Amino acid sequence: MHPSHSFDLVVVGAGGGPDETNLSAYLLKPHDTNWDDGILALEAGSGQGTLARLLRSDPDIFQTSNTKNGAISKVHSASDIYSFVRCFLLTHAHLDHINSLVVSAGSLRGPRKRVYGLKQTLEDLELVFSDRIWPNLASWKEEDDDVKLLYSTLIPDGRYKLVFPDISVQSVPINHGHNTLGQYSSTAFFIRHEPTLHEFLFFGDVEPDSIAVKPQTINVWRLAAPKIPEKLSTIFIECSWPSGRKDELLFGHLTPEHLGQELAALAAEVVKCKLATQQNGSRRRPARKKQRRNTLTAGELKDALFGVRIFIIHCKDDMNGDSDQPLREIIVEQARRIVEERGFGAKVFAAEQGSHISMIHCSSSILFFLHFLEGWGMKNIAIYSFECTFMST
Ligand SMILES: [Zn+2]
Ligand SMILES: [Zn+2]
Repeated sequence: MHPSHSFDLVVVGAGGGPDETNLSAYLLKPHDTNWDDGILALEAGSGQGTLARLLRSDPDIFQTSNTKNGAISKVHSASDIYSFVRCFLLTHAHLDHINSLVVSAGSLRGPRKRVYGLKQTLEDLELVFSDRIWPNLASWKEEDDDVKLLYSTLIPDGRYKLVFPDISVQSVPINHGHNTLGQYSSTAFFIRHEPTLHEFLFFGDVEPDSIAVKPQTINVWRLAAPKIPEKLSTIFIECSWPSGRKDELLFGHLTPEHLGQELAALAAEVVKCKLATQQNGSRRRPARKKQRRNTLTAGELKDALFGVRIFIIHCKDDMNGDSDQPLREIIVEQARRIVEERGFGAKVFAAEQGSHISMIHCSSSILFFLHFLEGWGMKNIAIYSFECTFMST
């Protein structure tokens, strides 16, 4: 069977601050369309200025020379690319996730653009588009045709909502710490390619369940588990801080240790799903004592996430120059080591700014070719090709 492609994604920015030229911003499209057919902007921290700089380094980040017709299409400017955006999808309204949307709102070209988010996210954004902090350039009303941005509420009701041709989204609220107003929420999105029903999971900023007043990330893992790895094998999740940071200084973010705990929770849910499937399959067999599986051993969790790719996002920058190695690389190495030591079987990567990620799947196995454009080089390098066969536990 031919491999099926789901998405192409370009990383405009993947950092967690304070470097304002590398803030959360991803451009997404179904693989079998062209970028000028329409783009979904996932987060909007960095934007046109950053993309213009990336394009100067590598004019073919979008690989437009490789269109579906085999035709050479023109290389687009950053302004062109953002004119193709049909909608923005926001996990929460912290400035590092909305900065470019706000700053560019008065000069965006192309069709009217929907801004999707949970109600609280959009109401928070409204505080900025208030004619005080920034002119009011967004509206809740479909009939306000002359207003470029249209608030469009996502409801976390367990359903998928079509937000773009061939792309639907399920939204799940997650914790992102607390402040003087109380608990602060962010969102995890299951983003599904309707023609193939393959999806990936994208996390907004997230606090570990282990320190949350009301754990919520577990809800995401329970929804993800039955789909792993055949339907869902790519997860973008933050790891803002390096190892060893104290819990009271997390401010609603993860360290590599907490990421390891979260992935253990996911691995446990995956194993429980498989055990339940096996038990259902043997239901007709003669009397067999029902097993209760409240805790799972490290051995049982081994390779539970085989075939899953974890892309680390939102690493904080060290602007003091205290280390020769970028903090992002240190964090990703620490996370990778923890995941390997725990034997989950998942692979850990950095979502590098300026990279182009294509998601490709095969029928009973999942084949990914990840095309990375080196941040400052001119070469398009396919670093990874990977085949995952379905594992039984
Ligand atoms: Zn945040
Ligand atoms: Zn953030």
